[in-house]
Amino acid sequence: MEARPETSILIAGAGPVGLALALELVRRGMRPRLVAKAAGPTPANESRALGVNARTLTLLEECGATALILHKARRINRFRVASRGKTLLTVDTARLRGRYSPLYALPQGETENILINLLAQHHITPEWQTAVAHVEGGIDKPQVLLRHADGTSETVSPNILVGADGAHSVVRENCGFTFPGSSIDMPFHLADYRYTRPIETNYAEGNFLNPGVLARIPVREDTIRYISTREDFETIIEHPAEVRDKPWVSSFRISFRHVESMRRGRVFLAGDAAHVHSPIGARGMNLGIEDACWLAWLISERREEEYSELRMPAIETVIKATRRNTAFVTLSNPVLTGLRRLLLPWLSLFPASTRAVLRTISGRDTPAPPWIPGAK
Ligand SMILES: Cc1cc2nc3c(=O)[nH]c(=O)nc-3n(C[C@H](O)[C@H](O)[C@H](O)COP(=O)(O)OP(=O)(O)OC[C@H]3O[C@@H](n4cnc5c(N)ncnc54)[C@H](O)[C@@H]3O)c2cc1C
Repeated sequence: MEARPETSILIAGAGPVGLALALELVRRGMRPRLVAKAAGPTPANESRALGVNARTLTLLEECGATALILHKARRINRFRVASRGKTLLTVDTARLRGRYSPLYALPQGETENILINLLAQHHITPEWQTAVAHVEGGIDKPQVLLRHADGTSETVSPNILVGADGAHSVVRENCGFTFPGSSIDMPFHLADYRYTRPIETNYAEGNFLNPGVLARIPVREDTIRYISTREDFETIIEHPAEVRDKPWVSSFRISFRHVESMRRGRVFLAGDAAHVHSPIGARGMNLGIEDACWLAWLISERREEEYSELRMPAIETVIKATRRNTAFVTLSNPVLTGLRRLLLPWLSLFPASTRAVLRTISGRDTPAPPWIPGAK
């Protein structure tokens, strides 16, 4: 493999996707510049993208991140589905064989810090508080106006511009990408609760309340995330121990959107800049890291023109599955919720169906990376 030191690459955004892209490029001999509007990585109290899946762990092995993530993350051994507290289905994650378990939990800021520290070993530091203010000059010769925290500006003309600048991407908006899709008119509410002692964190649970749903996902040894479609969800929680505090509370609405092409000329999009969907299935960050790894490989192979056609099928698969799963967990029709309660216990009798669910959670429903021998 030949490095491309002559190619100047500007990555807009130092979230998990921009960081993973920089690391995958740097380990192949390239020196990208990485700028971010934010002042630093995701704060420690905002757990955000908690689920790190098996596909991400396979992709990040070579750059050294996987071993560090596994050292800190909590393995999820079981998924439990309940209805008003009564267990309908338990899926043991060991049912899906592979080098890694399907899903681990690690707060987003910790994943980002692992990537930042690895980049530092290659003497690359994200330039924080450096925002892409505007892109002009066209998609074949983009000229990027950067605005620094002290109010000064700078124009750069990279050979390759990557927009990894999140759901409200300036790169996407300024470079003529369309972002069709829809929003669902249902707010989601979230609260991370920290307890005074360690609690059981090796399983995740979804509890249908009819109406609404309440999910419980481990964050740390003493912290659980509760996420619900019901505004009053905090009154329903059965706490496993005495509450110490609530490190993070948030509410958000969900959209399902993706760009029609992930490349226009010399401009590429990755992560939330290219696709957004509901957090059900924990795919957002993982899918974005997958984009980053494919793009780095293609750039190193001088095949970046193929990026969009290779990635779009994966994006469409994940958005379709996430949309279907979101509709399933947010059903409100009493006949359909009754049917769901009857059908779910039967699922455990069909190992192929539970394995299919685990394959989706593990991220193995998209094409395997061809540059990693034996990757599934
Ligand atoms: C409650 C919640 C739970 C989630 N759970 C999961 C989960 O379990 N697993 C999962 O995989 N995903 C999950 N996600 C989704 C995940 O958080 C996102 O998909 C992920 O953060 C996307 O990463 P990104 O790097 O593309 O964008 P971001 O993380 O949004 O990072 C964008 C970067 O771009 C920078 N930026 C923005 N504008 C500019 C600009 N103009 N110029 C320069 N830089 C700019 C920002 O400063 C930041 O550095 C969850 C999301 C939410 C809200």
